[in-house]
Amino acid sequence: MYKTPAQLRGMIEPGRITREALEAVRGAIRPGMTTLELDQVAEASIRAQGARPNFQLVPGYSHTICVSVNEEVVHGIPGARILEPGDIVSIDCGAETDEGWNGDSAISIVLPDPDRPELVAEREELSRITRESMWAGIAELASARGLGEVGARIEQFIDENPHPGTDRSLGILRDYVGHGIGRKMHESPTLFHYATPQPGARVKPGLCVCVEPMMVIGDEHVLVADDDWTVVTSDGSSGAHWEHSVAVHDGGIWVLTAADGGADGLAPFGVTPVPID
Ligand code: MG
Ligand code: MG
Repeated sequence: MYKTPAQLRGMIEPGRITREALEAVRGAIRPGMTTLELDQVAEASIRAQGARPNFQLVPGYSHTICVSVNEEVVHGIPGARILEPGDIVSIDCGAETDEGWNGDSAISIVLPDPDRPELVAEREELSRITRESMWAGIAELASARGLGEVGARIEQFIDENPHPGTDRSLGILRDYVGHGIGRKMHESPTLFHYATPQPGARVKPGLCVCVEPMMVIGDEHVLVADDDWTVVTSDGSSGAHWEHSVAVHDGGIWVLTAADGGADGLAPFGVTPVPID
């Protein structure tokens, strides 16, 4: 569960490749595209860098990304769905290098819609609060003793930052969790994005973990669609998902899937990331 310094160095490359694949998707996404076209953009980016899409290693799954639109929160399957102005699109992606190390990261994007500024603003706020709750949780890794403190911090952030449009706190998905990452995309330990009575796994050098809050504007109860994958809100409200892979090492923490190691996102929380040497 805890990696050696040499193993942590192996985690840098898949983090970078995963980030660049998501940047390629961000650069390409437009209303009128299908979600399958986004998948092709991500796969081309990963393969051009000599790595492979690790989502294709998940039994029963054959795509490079999960792409979840509007009331879909996570695990949406790329296909013929055409993106429309004003959609909120969550893209989850990962890569595995030849050395066998993995990256995993997710972003949410709201497509512009000049005709529906209120809808766009509502979804932008959903995405912003979800993203900032992720950074609050990642910042906690710099000083936490156990992963339970990370989950508690995310829930506290959500409680203290209600959605400006509804004046209510976002709903936190309970059944989908963060996880360790390394030789496999999903490893021990589990990370809950809310407070639990348990202290959680020890936070200490060698821990690599994915922090990936999934939040909804309305009720946090979700359903799995008829495709047996896609997680949708039961009340049809919008969802957002943000994720980074983070390493805890002797010098501090480093966000493997962020270009700056997390410097920008962590700054409001008084944490400075330290590169893995
Ligand atoms: Mg992911
Ligand atoms: Mg993940």
